Amino acid sequence: RPFNFCAGPAVLPEAVLERAAQEMLDWHGTGMSFMEMSHRSSEVVATVEAAEASLRRLLGISDEYAVLFAQGGASSQFAAVPLNLGGGGKPFSYVNTGQWSAKAMAEAKRYGEVLEVAAACKELPRAIPEQDAWLSADDSAYLHFTPNETIDGIEFHWMPESKAPIVADMSSTLLSRPLAVDDFDVIYAGAQKNIGPAGLVILIVRRELYGRAHSSCPSMMNWEVTDKAGSMLNTPPTYSIYLAGLVFEWLEAQGGLAAMAERNRKKATSLYAAIDGSEFYGNPVAVADRSWMNVPFTLADAELDKVFLSKADAAGLLNLKGHRSVGGMRASIYNAIPQAAVDALIEFMQDFEREHA
Ligand code: PLP
Repeated sequence: RPFNFCAGPAVLPEAVLERAAQEMLDWHGTGMSFMEMSHRSSEVVATVEAAEASLRRLLGISDEYAVLFAQGGASSQFAAVPLNLGGGGKPFSYVNTGQWSAKAMAEAKRYGEVLEVAAACKELPRAIPEQDAWLSADDSAYLHFTPNETIDGIEFHWMPESKAPIVADMSSTLLSRPLAVDDFDVIYAGAQKNIGPAGLVILIVRRELYGRAHSSCPSMMNWEVTDKAGSMLNTPPTYSIYLAGLVFEWLEAQGGLAAMAERNRKKATSLYAAIDGSEFYGNPVAVADRSWMNVPFTLADAELDKVFLSKADAAGLLNLKGHRSVGGMRASIYNAIPQAAVDALIEFMQDFEREHA
């Protein structure tokens, strides 16, 4: 298969897809596909529980936290966050580091007062301001931030602090390395990057926060209600959870998140070194805030973008076009991207530079 650098839906481990294909028509001798089985059957319930247990092992999640499987993509949580935590009428605080933070903030405005406590600078190189320079979120219903901005390629490599509960949209970084879950109060992530099929959302919620929901919070979005129903308030996306479970199992077999961190650090370091070592390519983000998962880069002459992309495609390096709102290129190098893919991309970039610079 070619190397797929798409930001999401993104490449999944080949071994996982092969296994899913083998089990497609006959899951574990049942004569049924997993997606044909009742969500109330003991097999499906056990599979969902096994996926949860595997995720808990990977991230070291204690029983103080619920692990929920929800639907509607990460974007549905942009509304669910204020609805679950906004019952007390306090303002909602947001750190605006890029396009996904901005979308989360815009949605929250529908439900109450939003405070932008800090924003990433717009000038190049783009950077996250230190927390000393932020407004305080201590009297807010929560402090929301986006640890990795998928479009902008900006990532927190440090943990903000607040007396307010800390909520993180970890869609494009969850499972890329070990995480101190206890530092967070709510973590949510759309699955279509490091986890599985689009539509599924993984939530990790500190149970202490239950009881803060706004009275208008729909049951399907209510974390406490979802938790009590074992993520089966309605028919859950069983096939997506099954696939996520296979990915969790694969991660454990790879040596867990410490092993992934090692690989991901190496991939990102080699790609940024290639960009920084060239006059032809550039990255718009301050070195300290660069993303491990999404690496945007520009060519010295934007007129060459189209040629770059068509040659890359022909070389089996797919989906390198930057987000339509920012242009340039972006290589997303999630868990399932091997070092060989990054090495092939670097070689291609160097050849292209020699030919066109
Ligand atoms: N948040 C981040 C950081 C994302 O990268 C994305 C999608 O790429 C989303 C939210 C939206 O996810 P979804 O399309 O699942 O709603």
